[in-house]
Amino acid sequence: MITLGIESTAHTLGLGVMDGKKPLANIIRTYIPPEGEGIHPRKAADHHASEFVPALSSALKAANISMNDVELISFAQGPGIGATLRLGVVMAKYLSASTGIPIIGVNHGYAHAKISEMFSGLERPLYLYVSGGNTQIMQEHEWRMEVLGETLDIGMGNLFDTFARGIGIKRAHGAELSRLAIGGNYVKLPYTVKGLNLAFSGLLTSAQSLAKTHPHKDVAYSMMETAFSMACEACERALFLSGKKSLVVCGGGAQNRRLQGMLASMCAEDGVRFGAAPDEFNRDNGAMIAYAGEILYEKFGTIPIEKWGAIQDFRTDMVQEVVKKRQGR
Ligand code: MG
Repeated sequence: MITLGIESTAHTLGLGVMDGKKPLANIIRTYIPPEGEGIHPRKAADHHASEFVPALSSALKAANISMNDVELISFAQGPGIGATLRLGVVMAKYLSASTGIPIIGVNHGYAHAKISEMFSGLERPLYLYVSGGNTQIMQEHEWRMEVLGETLDIGMGNLFDTFARGIGIKRAHGAELSRLAIGGNYVKLPYTVKGLNLAFSGLLTSAQSLAKTHPHKDVAYSMMETAFSMACEACERALFLSGKKSLVVCGGGAQNRRLQGMLASMCAEDGVRFGAAPDEFNRDNGAMIAYAGEILYEKFGTIPIEKWGAIQDFRTDMVQEVVKKRQGR
């Protein structure tokens, strides 16, 4: 099945095409806010609106297909920023209405998990989902995701971005912070794991105040090491409790090589297999939305266009609820 996937939950507009498990195109256009600013919802939505048609053309061209070849249109239903999310939903609905191609909405976190599972080749793994707004440990049951543990406050990505912005890093995100952290020395910071859950706000506050007196390099290094260690501990506990024999890390934060390395060595010690997708598919992207759309469409079918809408606070473990509601059960 050839599926067009539309991602627009936050700063990234993604137009991807999948043919079953084969990626045919994955066009990514990211809104970059002015230096030192976070994402402005309307400006990000304006960016996606003006990039949509060129990105769609590029995706169809890269996949060497036309709209007539598309059999399913899949869009990210949430969670996300209202303005950008709705833009994607409107575009998906317009395309579906004007072509008659069926449409399906998918959960963004579910899509991250499923595409990474596909690339890792590991079946039914435990998932660690790490992104700006999310840090969740999940397992999938027959047709739903269960969140075993998660951050009790901010996502790991937000921890890094907020700290980076505070110390004046211009393009404030995890990758820049990782570059700064190279060769840093460890200083002790709060470490908060509660069972399978994590909390990062105490770590952020302490790192911010430590940065006033300590070299930024040392604080950045220590904050990242602490956050990654916390994630490892919670994952290791979840692996033992769930009896899972494999772990897949997914989401934007999964691109971090230090995090990947720490998880991989923890898994190796425990005799657990570890996997991650290529970076392009860990970033927010349209291919993962297409892939997850195909899975859900084959499992549950779909509903008429007018019944679809954005769900801004769409939790990964609400997938079941939403499917049931849409089937009128
Ligand atoms: Mg994401």
